[in-house]
Amino acid sequence: MDESVETNDMHPDELRRHAHAVADWIADFVGRVEDLPVLAKVRPGEVSAQLPARAPEHGESMDTILADFDRLIVPATTHWNHPGFHAYFSNTGSGPGILAETLIATLNDNAMLWRTGPAATELELRTCSWVRDLLGIPERFEGHIEDTASTSTLVALAAARHRITDGAVREKGLAGRPPLRVYCSEEAHSSVERACIVLGLGVEGCRRVAVDDDFRLDPATLRAAIAEDRVHGVVPMAVVATTGTTSTTSVDPVAAIADVCAEEGLWLHVDAAYGGAMAASERFRWVLDGVDRADSLVVNPHKWLFVPMDCSVLLYRDASAFRAAFSLVPPYLMTPEDDVARNLMDYGVALGRRFRSLKLWFVLRWFGRDRIAALIEHHVDLAAVFAGWIDASEDWERLVPAPMSTVLYRHVPPAMAGDEDALRAHNTAIMDRLNEDGRSFVSHTVVQRGGDPRFALRMAVGNARTQRRHVEDLWERLQRIAGEVATTA
Ligand SMILES: *Cc1c(COP(=O)(O)O)cnc(C)c1O
Repeated sequence: MDESVETNDMHPDELRRHAHAVADWIADFVGRVEDLPVLAKVRPGEVSAQLPARAPEHGESMDTILADFDRLIVPATTHWNHPGFHAYFSNTGSGPGILAETLIATLNDNAMLWRTGPAATELELRTCSWVRDLLGIPERFEGHIEDTASTSTLVALAAARHRITDGAVREKGLAGRPPLRVYCSEEAHSSVERACIVLGLGVEGCRRVAVDDDFRLDPATLRAAIAEDRVHGVVPMAVVATTGTTSTTSVDPVAAIADVCAEEGLWLHVDAAYGGAMAASERFRWVLDGVDRADSLVVNPHKWLFVPMDCSVLLYRDASAFRAAFSLVPPYLMTPEDDVARNLMDYGVALGRRFRSLKLWFVLRWFGRDRIAALIEHHVDLAAVFAGWIDASEDWERLVPAPMSTVLYRHVPPAMAGDEDALRAHNTAIMDRLNEDGRSFVSHTVVQRGGDPRFALRMAVGNARTQRRHVEDLWERLQRIAGEVATTA
């Protein structure tokens, strides 16, 4: 060790040694993750039982810490980076993203002000434009990066609230004002309601509008709901349309909803957290039809654009609306560049901001538009193949259209047809048994459109490493397990 380098942190020589070991670990892991169980085989409390109650009094060696990482953490991790991860919406911590994350921590930049992160600030603005172009969104949109879609939607609705009240809420709060209201479909993500809770509109400030037979927000019902609310003294504020809803991946008719918003003077926010990525392929540009008329849109590169957690891109037409809602500059944060450069702290809730654009930059450059589009197409095609197998099988049923890379399906033995309770129990048993062997992880949802709620298994494709053989393996195991469960029931 070179003692001439004085440091209270880890010595660079020691850092180098461990960094090499960690680099090897990462490459090995990515090579073997497929052999690990996707779903962690632990019970609640098992991890904490193995952790000391108190942090160490004296420092420990990195070798010990890394050994504990292998022993305690990895086996108790559900592997989102596994090609058999088909639950929720699959994502990818891709190679270029992993490398970027390491460098992000190394620079440890904080792009609150342009001055505190010139590269991070300008790269963030540029990569957001790259995402906009990748998805075919018009050039008048620009944006910034938030941690999650939930935050992006919160921030967008805060800008909407500012606009509809001419800034009065910012000064006086909501007390004494007529109630504000946000509209979204019954199938919209819970983050819309949560934003309403945070923004002081309350859960009742989020009105969920009925969907049509394909689970899409119905513009006529929306119009009627707005009219009804106005009669009762409620002030309509914004509509959140979703392209790729979380349960069924339905796509709201954004253009028709934009008409309603234009007539009513409402902010239109589009939640394309998952589905927006699909527009990277020319084949699927339709998913963002009408989005050019939105005020804001969120898409999560950490979901289906191969960027590691966390990276959510919020795009908007009028950046000044966000600045007006959020900017608060104490004297100690004033800088000479304030008039000529963008200080990203002015556009959202957080002051400190991670250098997230670096991983977005690495991923967009390493894959390139062509490979991103090809991967998205591959995933949509794999889901279509799987849907085709379901459709062609007597005892399997598909519950909703599958326009994206997610399929809702269930096993329906003839004896159980029409018995929702039995179908729920039967398919839950199939799912639990399937998830036990560790080769894949699927989740479930409940679909309701009139009548009884229907239990469905849910299979999403979105990990860059997922191949046709993984989906074939899943289908073979599903059929075998369905037979076994049916005979032991
Ligand atoms: C995943 C998802 C969200 C929430 O995303 P976070 O980044 O985890 O907050 C919101 N809306 C839709 C449609 C989603 O698919």
